[in-house]
Amino acid sequence: MLYLIKQACTALKFAALSRAGTITSVSTSRPMVALTFDDGPDPLCTPRLLDVLQEHNAKATFFMVGQAAARHPGIVEQVADGGHVIGNHSWDHPSFPLITGRERRAQIRACAKALAPYGQPILRPPYADQNLWSRLDAVWLGYQVIMYSVTADDWLDHDADWMKSRIMSRIRNGSIILLHDSLFRYGEDRYADRAPMLNMVDALLRELSGRFSFVTVPELLRNGRPLRKWWFKKCVPEFLNGLKGPYGEGWRYSKADGGKKSENRCAG
Ligand SMILES: [Zn+2]
Repeated sequence: MLYLIKQACTALKFAALSRAGTITSVSTSRPMVALTFDDGPDPLCTPRLLDVLQEHNAKATFFMVGQAAARHPGIVEQVADGGHVIGNHSWDHPSFPLITGRERRAQIRACAKALAPYGQPILRPPYADQNLWSRLDAVWLGYQVIMYSVTADDWLDHDADWMKSRIMSRIRNGSIILLHDSLFRYGEDRYADRAPMLNMVDALLRELSGRFSFVTVPELLRNGRPLRKWWFKKCVPEFLNGLKGPYGEGWRYSKADGGKKSENRCAG
């Protein structure tokens, strides 16, 4: 009897994971990986990154912030023309679990409008923060949520060698790698410098292009089975309130009203 209950629990867990689990990588025997770049487009970094990718015949996926895309529509077009995929990363980067459902859906729709006609129905929530309700909102609006399996902590001030070693030690067939061609929010000004990330991508592609194909997320998904994780997390309001960025003060959150947005003072 106990055995049967255990089996039923495992089956239930598997069914729930296959429905509510979030894609973090792809199971494939093919030597393919996906580079993803969040928070752009950036007028300085993104065009240079496109040159680096083209030089190595690599394709990538850009999860863009609507506010930045609306300010730099020419770069959005350039990214699409380069054969890369563009996904949704919200209008101005709030933590989805800390805002209301109505605000979340408005964020996703406003970003989609800024990315049109190039945006595809894939979403990466800001800060990779997600709760059950934001997960359901994504499904409701027809988006597939894409998280990642490899990071290089490029939102801090690591040098190119450190980030490259970190990726090299973790990369596998089907990996989805998180990087940033811009930082919409950051803790210290020095973290915003994208030169180490650019140098790292150039060196990484130089070293690994013979071993892996660098493809977009949709292309990776067409070549394997998505691997999902039970991915529910949220940053603490105090941490988020301490961040700054190029588009003004941004969102401010408080605990007093149950973790809902208290005030949006985002400039621009
Ligand atoms: Zn982001």
